[in-house]
Amino acid sequence: MKVLKFGGTSVGTSHSINQVIKIIKKQQTPCVVVISAVGGITNLLLETAIKAKYQDETFVETFSAIQEKHILILKELNIDTPTNKLFLKEQFSELKKLFDGVHLIEEFSNKTSDKILSYGELLSSFIVFNALKKDTEHVGYLNAQEVIVTESVYNKPEVLFEETNHNIKAYFKSNNHQITIVPGFISKSKKGEVTTLGRGGSDYSAAIFASALEASILEIWTDVSGMYTTNPKLVKQAKPIEELSYEEAMELSHFGAKVLYPPTIQPVLKNQIQIQIKNTFSPEEKGTLITKKTNFTHHVVRGISNIDHIALMTLEGPAMIGVSGFAKRIFEALHDVNVNIIVITQASSEHSICFAIDKNDINTAEVAINKQFAHEIFMGKVKPLIVESGLSIVAVVGDYMKNHQGISGTLFSTLGANNINIRAIAQGASEKNITVIIKDTDVKKALNALHERFFESNTKQLNVFITGVGNVGEKLIEQIKQQRSYLKKNLKLDVKIVGLSNSRKMVFKPKGIDLNDWASLFHYAEKSSIEGFFQKVVELNLRNSIFVDVTANEDVANIYEKYLKQSVAVVACSKIACSS
Ligand code: ADP
Ligand code: ASP
Ligand code: MG
Repeated sequence: MKVLKFGGTSVGTSHSINQVIKIIKKQQTPCVVVISAVGGITNLLLETAIKAKYQDETFVETFSAIQEKHILILKELNIDTPTNKLFLKEQFSELKKLFDGVHLIEEFSNKTSDKILSYGELLSSFIVFNALKKDTEHVGYLNAQEVIVTESVYNKPEVLFEETNHNIKAYFKSNNHQITIVPGFISKSKKGEVTTLGRGGSDYSAAIFASALEASILEIWTDVSGMYTTNPKLVKQAKPIEELSYEEAMELSHFGAKVLYPPTIQPVLKNQIQIQIKNTFSPEEKGTLITKKTNFTHHVVRGISNIDHIALMTLEGPAMIGVSGFAKRIFEALHDVNVNIIVITQASSEHSICFAIDKNDINTAEVAINKQFAHEIFMGKVKPLIVESGLSIVAVVGDYMKNHQGISGTLFSTLGANNINIRAIAQGASEKNITVIIKDTDVKKALNALHERFFESNTKQLNVFITGVGNVGEKLIEQIKQQRSYLKKNLKLDVKIVGLSNSRKMVFKPKGIDLNDWASLFHYAEKSSIEGFFQKVVELNLRNSIFVDVTANEDVANIYEKYLKQSVAVVACSKIACSS
């Protein structure tokens, strides 16, 4: 038995559903196929309900968009039979009642949210089931709500594995279809109410089935070819990782690699079921295999991940030195209000404790902590909680990091050389990850710089900004053009000219200016100024930035200091700065 899961991106259009069906039909062994909601629908359901709650009448239009999307897919797949259309109509009429209810009472509880969101997966799995059934025999449908049972623990649903496994096994004992389609993400409580497994939870549903059925493999089909060395949306050079251990995959997903929902690993780890991440749109690509233990490759760091929109909370004060129980009180206070702590650090003097949480939890956490320490704050022994937002977590992960010196040194020096300030650091004793907290606006630069350092150590990208494109400047550009391939091959330097300016105009191309045609760019360029050029270099915030002054202008020389303060290197043929 195999378990396959197709994410929202894989069932976003009729075209991609056809692709999914092709993959399912190729399967040789019996399989359970878990389906996510049509791409973007869970967000739209949520948006509609929130609009309805806040009396934004456009909720009606958002709801129409949801309906139209499903009706169109049904039609394009040629399965818009009267029975299927009627099923959709009934589902939409139930959903409408729920949205109208939210609108009327201006309330959108967790219970209602689960109920509303469950329609996403109910609809998508119905569509895939019918599209497959059209010309395939032995296809069954199992509503996951009949088998996955949860109980609420501190307001979060937890799967009751004993009961769930029993239900799944019992179902498959008496139903032996070659293919069984199952909606992901949804479950039910012991009382029979609809529950969900958390955003991204279809991966978890699939793992629950894989574990209960002792599947030979769990395949997660998505829109990228595996778990990448880092977020492929932010780093162009990111590459799929061929093999990862369960622990590495868990760390990477915990720290933001969205391709796998973090709880997914737990159920399959017990039975050592391998997970394969595959690309629905390039099924021939290998993808990533997640297994028990991987062999050491020359990459000690296996991946880098990020979580954005983090807030850092610091509690400090003399009363905390040497007094036991402070950390316990912080954790208890946050636990009571259901706030998840992502990272914790404590200064060795114990003068302060610092923890990172999701920015949506700031208010709840602030109130809880200030209440917990109200007495100490009143007595001046502890300062009110310090809150910093606009931050992100970046984590480097690898099982073999603990046997290698210098990883943290490389991490810090790479960030330092790129003028990225680190607000907090954490490293687990297991040394499978090192985590830093930096500004949101530095994440892209940090990921690119670290990726280059740990995965592309052979080639370093230099981002060059040249002021002055007169005779000498032109010659320099010409030389760089001639030398680029030599530099790349022999010195492993990838030189990109990103900005150019003369006294009147300036141009910028973050991906690099085409050196065969740079002069024509000046026709449409914006007005230049020395300060404006500097501001743009800072704003682009690219790694390994170099400012080149090919003028003999004292005002340009006067701005070097500002570049250097931003860790932008300065190259000049002008002697003014040095002689003044
Ligand atoms: P699905 O709809 O298939 O569940 P998700 O959107 O949940 O897909 O996850 C896939 C996305 O995860 C990718 O499109 C990619 O943008 C994002 N992602 C972030 N970090 C990584 C990473 N390290 N490796 C692969 N994908 C990542
Ligand atoms: N549809 C749900 C979500 O968007 C579950 C999933 O796609 O895994 O969160
Ligand atoms: Mg997902």
